[in-house]
Amino acid sequence: LDTAPPEALTALHDTFGFPAFRGVQEHVVARVLEGRSTLTIMPTGAGKSLTYQLPAVMLRGTCVVVSPLIALMHDQLRSATANGIRAATLTSADTDRMATMDAFRAGELDLLYVAPERASQQHFRDLLSSAPVSLFAIDEAHCVSEWGHDFRPDYRLLRPLLDAFPDVPRLALTATADQHTRADILAQLGIADDGLIVAGFDRPNIRYAIRPRDSLQRQLKAILDENPGPGIIYAPTRAKVEQLAEALGASGRRVLPYHAGLDPAIRARNQAAFVASEDMVMVATVAFGMGIDKPDVRFVAHAGIPKSIEGYYQETGRAGRDGDPAVAVMLWGAEDFARARQRLAEVEDHRRASERQRLDALAGLVETAQCRRAILLRHFGEHPPETCGNCDNCLEPVGVTDATQLARKLLSA
Ligand code: ADP
Ligand code: MG
Repeated sequence: LDTAPPEALTALHDTFGFPAFRGVQEHVVARVLEGRSTLTIMPTGAGKSLTYQLPAVMLRGTCVVVSPLIALMHDQLRSATANGIRAATLTSADTDRMATMDAFRAGELDLLYVAPERASQQHFRDLLSSAPVSLFAIDEAHCVSEWGHDFRPDYRLLRPLLDAFPDVPRLALTATADQHTRADILAQLGIADDGLIVAGFDRPNIRYAIRPRDSLQRQLKAILDENPGPGIIYAPTRAKVEQLAEALGASGRRVLPYHAGLDPAIRARNQAAFVASEDMVMVATVAFGMGIDKPDVRFVAHAGIPKSIEGYYQETGRAGRDGDPAVAVMLWGAEDFARARQRLAEVEDHRRASERQRLDALAGLVETAQCRRAILLRHFGEHPPETCGNCDNCLEPVGVTDATQLARKLLSA
């Protein structure tokens, strides 16, 4: 792994005000500064943006950032500008596109954010030919792969643009990509296999437990009783969210619902109440959690199975961001898998194989008698020790008979 030059550390202090690199950031920055194309996989919140923003500041010319959502671009723009970085977006929502293009051509921008639809147009390629480009950053790079969970066909059109500028290095970034998706991203974006840098996915303070569901409300109530701090319960449907919020709220603990069907004002109010609270429970669909910054969530419970291991990791990852002990408990039923298998029939043909694989991987995590953390981390390409000492299987190993019964229950689903 590479070490960044001292100038990089200076820019890290001066521009971003950070005392040190975090995790693999330094290695990614070092590679990019050497002009070598890279794919980096770092969990959400690990600090991926810095790995292109810092080189963008240091290198002569502009780093062109491909990003899938205008909202994401504007967030990035705000934080970059706040650090004194010369950044702009080029989207249909911008009225000053002419001025932006002029500044870009004149070499007055460090960062230029565009959506893949625009980036793949001939007209944008022409613009790049008349401007100094230092680096291509492809954010949310899993969108380029059909194996990924959020395939965006426009990402496939980026390759000709990248290839038109063979001297400009490429940096692809994503939080979630299993082995298949990674290989596909490397191939689709023309990045060498040795250009992969993966960050540590382990969240050692989270205790994982996965249990069969027998009496959902009683089990959830027990989890609430054991965990007085703030927590999130993920439920599969809006109706289930409402029902559980009401039932669990009756026991005295403050419990609120959150799902996309609620009035936006109520949703915002419930979210604000949760963020401010030291003991509240949010019962929610997966619509809840993205972009919510609450470091002291003490437990995340799943009232049914998540969509995939990636989803499970992301959702449980909202617990214990402060590093203090937290728990993640999944309560699953054979009928969850049965329903998910039925839904596979409705998936478009070209996605079915990958969706099935996703579900099988999740079933593997649920039915294993081995260390949960080891399975999780291996899924993300790491080589963890056999046991972690902080999951249900390590703490209370199941007997062989129990494990067999569990497996049978799953297989018959
Ligand atoms: P990601 O895209 O990986 O989810 P971001 O790039 O949005 O993460 O960064 C998450 C947070 O981490 C931001 O608030 C950012 O300022 C902060 N951060 C990034 N790098 C560092 C660092 N080296 N030291 C301290 N904080 C950092
Ligand atoms: Mg990001």
